[in-house]
Amino acid sequence: MKTLSRKLALTQLAINMIIQCPTKKIENILFANYLDRHGQSLTYTSIFDDAVQTFLLDYFIDIKLKGYSNHYLKKYVSDLYNEPITIIGNEDILHICPCCSYLTLEHQGQYDVCPLCSWEDDGTLHHELDKYSVVNHSTLKQYKGKFEKQKVNFINIPYKSGNDN
Ligand SMILES: [Zn+2]
Repeated sequence: MKTLSRKLALTQLAINMIIQCPTKKIENILFANYLDRHGQSLTYTSIFDDAVQTFLLDYFIDIKLKGYSNHYLKKYVSDLYNEPITIIGNEDILHICPCCSYLTLEHQGQYDVCPLCSWEDDGTLHHELDKYSVVNHSTLKQYKGKFEKQKVNFINIPYKSGNDN
């Protein structure tokens, strides 16, 4: 059986996601994230500039693909190359988001924003449904309701659900 590092499997998947991403969306990502160390937007001639492409690859691997399990990556690359491929490398250690219940947060109660449901983790616990969260301008119950409505868009998302097993 062939073996691939987690890093290269993520790279492979990131390239696929970038290909599928509409130009407008890429430009929006660059506008919000392609910044110098003072937080100013970096200029570029084309999204196909080498520096922009390098940035996009890192951004997709580090932000968009955070938390993807090796199990998912194994299935992805094995299907892609039509042969079984084992993934080596450690998965990110993530915490369960109190809103969407997926393993998406790097820290707990540190105001990380969940990349899946956008809940800002202000330390509200999953059962504190009616406590008003100032940073989220809403209670957890209201926010969960909003997420449930949008969830159909995330149907293929391979995050490991904290509610399974
Ligand atoms: Zn979430």
